[in-house]
Order: sequence, then structure tokens, then C-alpha cells
Amino acid sequence: MRSDQFILLEDEYGAHNYKPLDVVLERGQGVWVWDVDGNRYMDCLSAYSAVNQGHCHPKIMEALARQAERLTLTSRAFRNDQLGPLYKELCELTNSHKVLPMNSGAEAVETAIKAVRKWGYQVKGVPGDKAEIIVCRNNFHGRTITIVSFSTDPVSTAGFGPFTPGFRIIEFGDAEALEAAVTENTVAFLVEPIQGEAGVIIPPDGYLKDVRRICTENNVVLILDEIQTGLGRTGKLLAEQHENIEADLTLIGKALSGGFYPVSAVLSNTEVLGVLKPGEHGSTFGGNPLACAVARAALKVLVEEDLIENAADIGEYFKAGLAKIDNPKIREVRGRGLLLAVEFTPDAGGARRYCERLKDAGLLCKETHETIIRFAPPLVITREEVNWALERIASVLSG
Ligand SMILES: *Cc1c(COP(=O)(O)O)cnc(C)c1O
Repeated sequence: MRSDQFILLEDEYGAHNYKPLDVVLERGQGVWVWDVDGNRYMDCLSAYSAVNQGHCHPKIMEALARQAERLTLTSRAFRNDQLGPLYKELCELTNSHKVLPMNSGAEAVETAIKAVRKWGYQVKGVPGDKAEIIVCRNNFHGRTITIVSFSTDPVSTAGFGPFTPGFRIIEFGDAEALEAAVTENTVAFLVEPIQGEAGVIIPPDGYLKDVRRICTENNVVLILDEIQTGLGRTGKLLAEQHENIEADLTLIGKALSGGFYPVSAVLSNTEVLGVLKPGEHGSTFGGNPLACAVARAALKVLVEEDLIENAADIGEYFKAGLAKIDNPKIREVRGRGLLLAVEFTPDAGGARRYCERLKDAGLLCKETHETIIRFAPPLVITREEVNWALERIASVLSG
């Protein structure tokens, strides 16, 4: 079948909750993917940073295949021989004390919300059902009802009420706003170190340090959602390291499996996760041996292949190349590591049409909001591949 036939099938039988570019992919390797018509593209989205290790990494593939032959799912009613080793490796790598494994990123966020509410009642002494969690405008934390309850994007919320109470919204990047919003019922501050879906919004220098101090002073749990920024994407293992802080709860997902399988986790360096007792939270697939084996291999690849350092080096080089593109309609080039964005002026006619033309030139990118294109290729990208990309990006974006 050709592309147009696959597209017809999707459109006829699938829910239309996405508006994908019309490219039907069938194969991937490293930074490259191929469509059913035989065209090759560079993947500059990496499944929203889930394939940091590159498409179909052979070592993760091998771990997946080997584990799939042995044991895939036990449920947590029984133990398995992959879970303990994953916990230990994750804790050692991220300097954490405890891990709670889930599947999707949204589930990790939900887990953190449950844990900090319980912590608020049992440890902090917040009166029953009064717990407040502070979040930021333009956040993206997932798509469940509770999570969209504190989204400020009307497309995410319109028509989906009634919503979960208990959230308070402040401006991102404004530490004073956090200080002012904290009450005795505040149990947590949930924030992305860099707002990814909002368009790679980087907070002012020192923001996370101030946030850390305010949370500590007020006995508020700091939850960093590193589902997109974590695991090497910004040139550090976790984006919190850019400001030398440690969150109380860290949420990871996406690249935790190198894109093979949905695996997420809540990492805790306080006793917050300790408030959860048997039966109070769980997931049939969370922590299954296949997921654990895949995650162990994905973490190993990240470290052994120096992908974090590569993201830092190549990211700087890529960003410098983007900044040289001469187009008065480019308002700003920004980013950290390999989480980069080009923002256009409102009169540029939207980022989508550039994405369409980049696709024709062999690069798959996705606009975020109307005016921003994110460039976030797999972290295995080489300097030669960046040069290849920059040549094409410059030619498309200059026009
Ligand atoms: C993608 C993402 C999520 C949600 O992850 P899913 O696996 O899609 O549920 C949450 N937070 C951030 C910052 C994300 O980028």
C-alpha cells in the first residue's frame, strides 16, 4: 500500500485527536526514519524526546527480545527479577532513594499528585481534602482529567469538565509568584524545568534555585516533571542539574525506554513515596519485567554511549547554526542541549507551513503552538548529520 491509502484508513477508522503530517513511517534507525514510499527523513522530534537513544537501538532491541522470550508480565502480585535491579540502577544514576514505576508520563504525574496529597495530610498536617498543589501557566503534564484540570490551554480543557479541584496556577519563571501563592495547605509545586510543549520556554537563571529554596522554607514538596527534559535531552541527565538543585520528586518517562515501550517512574529523594501503603496505588503493567529490562538497557545506552555529553556539545553547535539563519521573521532561537526551538514572528504565516516544507526537504519537525518549531533529534546525532540538517533548515527557513 502507498501513503495515501494508509492515510485514508486512519482517517476513516481512527479518532481524529491528532493532525499528523502526511508521512507514513515504516522503519527507523538512529536519527533516520523511512516512509512506506521509500523516502528517508531525519527525525527532529524524537517522539517528543522518547527516542533519545535513536530509533531501534540494537542494544535495547536485544534486551527487549531476550526478556520477551523469558517473562513479560507478572503483575505486582508477585516479584520479578528485573524490578529490583532497575530500582537500584535508577537510584544510583539519579541520586534518588525510592522509585515507583508506572507506564505513561501522565500516570507518573497522577502518581505524584496522589503521593503529595497523602503526604500533606499524614506528614504536613494539612486538614482533610484541603491540599493545594501549585502549577504554572502554559504547563503540559499530560491528558487525564485531573491533569487537564490545571491546564491553561483552552484546547486541552474545553468540553471536558467538571474538573478536579485543588490546583492553583501561577506564572512560570516567577519565583516571587510562587512565594506569594504558598499557603499552609500547599503540599507541592509541580513544574517543568523547561516548558517543552509550551515552546521550549527557559526560565530565568536562578529560578530553579529560588524555587528549591522557597519549597524547602515552606515545607512544600518540589515535583519536577522531567518527562521531556530528563534523561540527557538538555545536555545533563536531569535538567535540574543546570542549577545544581535536587527535586523531592522527579518524574521521568519517554526516553526511559528509548521509545520501545511505555515506561515511566516517580523518583523520590525524601520519604514522600513512603506514605503509600500496599493497595493504595498501582498499575497492572507498571514495573513489569519487560518494561524493566527495556528501561535498564535504555539507561545503559544513555550513559555508555555518552549521549548526555553529546546532547550538550552537539546541541550548542546546532543552536549556533540555527542562530545564523537569516530571516527577519525569526524572532528567537533558543534551547538547551538538544531541546531547541525557532520562534517566528506572528506575521510569518505560522510554523506549520515551514514544517510541511521541511518534510519535503527530508526533515520531520512539529510545530508547537502557532509560531514555534521544536528541533529535538535523537541524542545520537553526529556533527555531520547536524550539518546535513542545517543546510536544509537554512534553505527552507530563509525563504
Ligand atoms: C509528554 C509529557 C507528559 C505526558 O507523558 P505521556 O506519556 O504522553 O502521558 C507529561 N509531562 C511532560 C513534560 C511531557 O512532555
